[in-house]
Amino acid sequence: MAAADVKVNAEVRDLTRIERIGAHSHIRGLGLDDALEARAVSQGMVGQAKARKAAGIILQMIKEGKIAGRAMLLAGQPGTGKTAIAMGMAKALGEETPFAMMTGSEIFSLEMSKTEALTQAFRKAIGVRIKEETEIIEGEVVEIEIDRPESGGVAKTGRLTLKTTEMETIYDLGQKMIESLTKEKVTSGDVITIDKASGRITKLGRSFARSRDYDAMGASTKFVQCPEGELQKRKEVVHVVTLHEIDVINSRTQGFLALFSGDTGEIRSEVREQIDAKVAEWREEGKAEIVPGVLFIDEVHMLDIECFSFLNRALENDMAPILVTATNRGITRIRGTQYRSPHGVPIDLLDRLLIISTEPYSEKEIRLILDIRCEEEDVEMSEDAKELLTKIGFETSLRYSIQLITAAAIVCQRRKGTEVDIEDISKVYSMFVDVKRSTQFLIEYQEQYMF
Ligand code: ATP
Repeated sequence: MAAADVKVNAEVRDLTRIERIGAHSHIRGLGLDDALEARAVSQGMVGQAKARKAAGIILQMIKEGKIAGRAMLLAGQPGTGKTAIAMGMAKALGEETPFAMMTGSEIFSLEMSKTEALTQAFRKAIGVRIKEETEIIEGEVVEIEIDRPESGGVAKTGRLTLKTTEMETIYDLGQKMIESLTKEKVTSGDVITIDKASGRITKLGRSFARSRDYDAMGASTKFVQCPEGELQKRKEVVHVVTLHEIDVINSRTQGFLALFSGDTGEIRSEVREQIDAKVAEWREEGKAEIVPGVLFIDEVHMLDIECFSFLNRALENDMAPILVTATNRGITRIRGTQYRSPHGVPIDLLDRLLIISTEPYSEKEIRLILDIRCEEEDVEMSEDAKELLTKIGFETSLRYSIQLITAAAIVCQRRKGTEVDIEDISKVYSMFVDVKRSTQFLIEYQEQYMF
C-alpha cells in the first residue's frame, strides 16, 4: 500500500461508534459551572464534587495545551464513579472527541501481544479531523450490475442504482454490497435507490460506491459511472476518524469488515508507519488536525511492568491522548515484579499521574443517581420502590442497584404493570444475588464447591 492510498471514510465512524457503554449513557459531561465548581446534579452527574472539579481542572489544562504527556489516576472503591468521570471528561471535550475504554486484565486475554493491544487502544483514542474539498455531483448516478451464476434458488442478478453525493472508494465495499444484496434477496431488475440529500442507500443503510471492476464470491460486479449531472458543487466536508479506524480500513489482511466484528487482529507496523506519514503530511498541508481523545484504562493495577513502560513511552508522543487510569487497589505488587508500590503502579509512571480520589456515595446521592437512571431507561417507578432500591444500593453497591432497574422493569412488564413497585424490586433482589450475599452463600456451602 502506498501512503498516497491511505483511505478514510466518515461513515465508518458512525458504524463503529455504536454506544457500547450503556451503563453510562446518562453522563453528558462533568456538570461543572464556569468557575469549575461541581453543580449538585448536572449533566447526569451527581455528587463526587471534589473529583469532578479536579477532573474539570485537568480538562482546562488540556484545553490550554498544558498537559501534554500527562495522565491521571482515579483511585477509589468500586462503583464510585471512576468510569463515569472519565466518560464525563470525554463528553465535556465534545462529541467528536474519541473515547476508548479498556480494562487492565483485557490485555492478557486478547489474541494479540500486549503492546499491540495497547497500541490499538491508544490509536482508538486519537482522532484525526480531516477536511476535504469534495466535488459533489448532485443527481449523478452510478449503476452497479451484479451477475452471479444461479445457486440455491435465489436469483443473483441485480441492479443497484446509486445516486452518489460523497463517493469514496474503500477496499472491500464491493463485497459488502454483494453480501447485503444477497441477504436482501435481490432479484433481477431490482433497483435500490439512495437518498439524494444524505447519500445513504435506503435499503442497505450505508453510502458507498466503487468505480472499478470487482470480483468477489464468484460474482462479477461492474460499476458503471453514468454521465455527469448538470449540477456540480464544491463542499468542505469535515469528519473525524480515529487512527485505529484508518489502520483497519487500510490493513489488507483485516479490511473494512473487521470494524464490524471488532476482531481486527494485529496490524502490521508498516501500515501504521505509512498512515502516520500520511497524517503528518495532511497536517502540514492544513488538511487534517489531531484530536486527542481520552483513553480510559480501568483496573490499571492489572497491567504488568512491560505495559507500564509502554505507557511511559507512549505518553511522550505528540499525538498522545489523555490517559485516564483507575484502580481500587492500595499498596500492592507491581505485576511482573516483586516490588510493591501504591496502586500497583511503578513510581516513575505514578510521578506523571495526577491522582484524584473518589469517595463512596451517600444514600441521598444514590437516590439521585437511581432517579436519573430510571429516567434514562424510561422506567416508571413508585416512590416506595425507589426508596427500597436506594437502601439496596447503599447496603450492597450502586452498580448492583442500577442493574436491578432493568430487571425489575421486565418483571413489571410481565405482570402487565405500568409502574415498577416494591414487589418487583423484592422479586429481582431475591432472583439476583449481590456480591455480599453470594460470598455469604459460598462461605456457607464451600465444601460443595471446587477450589
Ligand atoms: P469500578 O471500580 O468497579 O470500575 P467505577 O468507580 O468505575 O467502578 P462506575 O462504573 O463509574 O464506577 O459507576 C457505576 C454506575 O454508577 C455507572 O452506571 C455510572 O454511570 C453510575 N455513576 C457513578 N457515579 C456517578 C455519578 N457521580 N453521577 C451519576 N452517575 C454515576
